[in-house]
Amino acid sequence: MKQQARQRPTLESLADGVLNGDRILLAQAITLIESHRPDDEATAIALLEKVMPHTGNSLRIGITGTPGVGKSTFIESLGQFILKNNKKVAVLSIDPTSPVGGGSILGDKTRMETLSKNRNAFIRPTASLDSLGGVAQRTRESMLLAEAAGYDFIIIETVGVGQSEYSVKEMVDFFLLLMLPGSGDDLQGMKKGIVELADAIAITKADGDNVNRARQAQAMYAQAIHTVYTGATNTPPVILTSAVSGVGIEEVWTAISDAVARTKLSGAFDQQRNRQYVAWLNDQFAALLKSDVWQYDQVRTAQSLLESEVTSKTKSPRKAANELLAAYHRQIKGS
Ligand code: GDP
Repeated sequence: MKQQARQRPTLESLADGVLNGDRILLAQAITLIESHRPDDEATAIALLEKVMPHTGNSLRIGITGTPGVGKSTFIESLGQFILKNNKKVAVLSIDPTSPVGGGSILGDKTRMETLSKNRNAFIRPTASLDSLGGVAQRTRESMLLAEAAGYDFIIIETVGVGQSEYSVKEMVDFFLLLMLPGSGDDLQGMKKGIVELADAIAITKADGDNVNRARQAQAMYAQAIHTVYTGATNTPPVILTSAVSGVGIEEVWTAISDAVARTKLSGAFDQQRNRQYVAWLNDQFAALLKSDVWQYDQVRTAQSLLESEVTSKTKSPRKAANELLAAYHRQIKGS
C-alpha cells in the first residue's frame, strides 16, 4: 500500500506550538526554516515574523573547542546546573562537515544524553553542507525560535575549526572557549587569535593526573590574556573545570552572570545585540543579492564571455567586472 504523505503542520499550528513551548513543534519549526525547498520559504518567513516579538529574552552563550576537548560533557554539566536553577536550556550544535572526510565532526553518537531527556532542555544538532554563512543564518533563526519557545539560555556549540567560531561569536552575548591542557591546542588557539574572541576560557578535564598540566595551561592563558588586554579592568577569566568532578562549573556560571550584569548596566550588552542584528540584516541581504544575480541567463552568458576575455587578456578583470554589473543592472531594470 502506498504510504500517505505525512501531514505538514500549518503555519498557525507551528507558531502556536513554538509559543507554547512544544518541543516537537519547535523541532518541526526549525526543520522548516532550514528547508531548501523554495515553497517553504514564504512560510518560514511568516513564522519568523510571528515569533519575532517574543524573542530576545534569553541569554545567548557560544561554546567552542576542538573535537574531544569535552564540549558535550561540559554542556551536560552546565545544562544540569541551569536546570537546577529552574531555568530552561536549549543547545544548538553547529556541526560543520569535516573538510577532509566530508563527514560530521561532532559525530553520530548520542550526545548530551541526560540533558536531552529533561523536558526543560532542547537539543538540536544542525549538520549542514552549506557554506558557513548559510549555517550562521539558519542557526540564528533557530535561536529565535528557541527563544520564542521560552528557553532562558541558548547554548550554541561549535567545533573550533575553520571560521565557525567567528560566526558564533557574532551571534551570542557570551563566548566561552574550551581548552585542553597540553594537547597542542594551546598553541593553535594562540595562532588563531581565538583567545581574543573569548569572554572566558575554561580549561577542561582538570582532574586526576591532569590537574598539574591544567594549572600550567591556566597560567599560560592568563598570561596571554594579560598581554592582549593590557590595562583593562575586566579581563576574561581562565577557569579550571572538570565535568567529572564538577569543579569549575559554578565558577563558569558566575563568570557568565557577572559579565552579563556588568554589560547590561553599562549598555554594552544592548549595543552588541543591536550591532549583531544590523550585521545579520546586511549579511542576509548580501546573500540574497549574490543569489539574485545568477538567476538571469543573460548575466550568466555575459559572465562566460567576459571570462574568456580576461583569460585571453583582451580585457582587464576590473573592466570585465564593471561590464558584468552593467549586464545585471540591465536585467533588473527590464524585469
Ligand atoms: P567533544 O568532542 O568536545 O564534545 O568531547 P566529549 O564531551 O565527547 O568528551 C571527549 C572525551 O573526554 C570523552 O571520552 C569524555 O568522557 C572525556 N571527558 C570529557 N570531560 C571530561 C572531564 O572533565 N574529565 C575527564 N577526565 N574526561 C572528560
